[in-house]
Amino acid sequence: MAGLIYMDHAATTPTHPEVWREMSLWFTEYYGNPATLYALGSKCSEAVEQARTAVADLIGAKPEEIYFTSGGTESDNWAIKGIACAPGVKGNHIITSSIEHHAVLEPCHFYEKRGCTVTLLPVDKHGLVDPDDVRKAITDKTILITLMHANNEVGTIEPIEVISKIAKERGIPFHTDAVQTVGKISIDVNALGCDMLSISAHKLYGPKGVGALYLRKGTKLQSFMHGGGQERNRRAGTLNVPGIVGLGKAAQIAKAELAAEAKRLTALRDRLRDGILNNIPDTSLNGHPALRLPNNVSVCVDGAEGEAMLLCLDLNRVSVSSGSACTTGSLEPSHVLLAMGIPAERAHGSLRFTLGMDNTEEQIEYVIRILPNIVHRLRQMSPTYAAKLSQRR
Ligand code: PLP
Repeated sequence: MAGLIYMDHAATTPTHPEVWREMSLWFTEYYGNPATLYALGSKCSEAVEQARTAVADLIGAKPEEIYFTSGGTESDNWAIKGIACAPGVKGNHIITSSIEHHAVLEPCHFYEKRGCTVTLLPVDKHGLVDPDDVRKAITDKTILITLMHANNEVGTIEPIEVISKIAKERGIPFHTDAVQTVGKISIDVNALGCDMLSISAHKLYGPKGVGALYLRKGTKLQSFMHGGGQERNRRAGTLNVPGIVGLGKAAQIAKAELAAEAKRLTALRDRLRDGILNNIPDTSLNGHPALRLPNNVSVCVDGAEGEAMLLCLDLNRVSVSSGSACTTGSLEPSHVLLAMGIPAERAHGSLRFTLGMDNTEEQIEYVIRILPNIVHRLRQMSPTYAAKLSQRR
């Protein structure tokens, strides 16, 4: 779409042109099934193994610890259901946080309905989990701790290294949903100390419908998809070769460009944040001021509905989100903002910009220029904001 200013990279990213170029051959020329023995099949299985190495290299893992899946949702489901169903599991208690993505919350609720207990840890006003709360929540029945690496709505980065140590001391498997961090910030699974980590290709300029689960050697996890013997008998189903090749290429590009791109995006992010907060009264930043993703600006705007701002920005060719893209369509205030103690009325006025590869300084300046007028017009139609202003006078 010519002229589109896309600022919703937490929802999805465009497929990188080099990724698409690399993938296309595996649809048309090398279309074999990697499980077959003839040359075409071997060519495909070699490509899958190269991609596995590239994904492993991006997160400091060994290739044999990477399992390909259909995306972040499957990886999260597998980590949770695979632990809860593991043979000989001794317990029925899962610890997670109140700000997880639905791909984690829903499988936890699934087990709750079947007799598991789930502790939803609170977060502070910046969206941070307190490691002491994790320590206190552990019981003899705890079988899994799952906490996201960074939040998809507000961008806060959690103290995963500290929390994974607590899990390790108690011998409890630790999973992190790193869908929003892989390819955006540097990750080393050994420094993070996690046993499982979820990856989604379409958040790092790869294709949709493919992802991976990092599974530390020795972690006992039940298979989730049953069928053929693919992925060393742990995840059945014919491998999505073009998708996996695309994820591998995206991982390679991310590794090469991550440091410089994170620096560039941080500068754009800070300019956008300041341009909004300094030019529009009654706005505030959501999430941690410093411990946040380099590409995330999430704000609350008093007296303006998030959806209305989103639609007005769309009319000006700017794509953003008013909370989690995965929950767009529902007018429920975001569970993340509510968990951070933001009142429902303010949470309704939230707007999330997530920047990426194609965003430029000019685009940031354009948004800073048009947003105050949009907010001003919407506020003029808001009886509650008018009442608030007259109270101040
Ligand atoms: N986890 C987080 C934090 C996400 O942001 C998302 C998608 O927005 C997912 C999981 C789901 O990933 P996928 O779209 O690959 O299923």
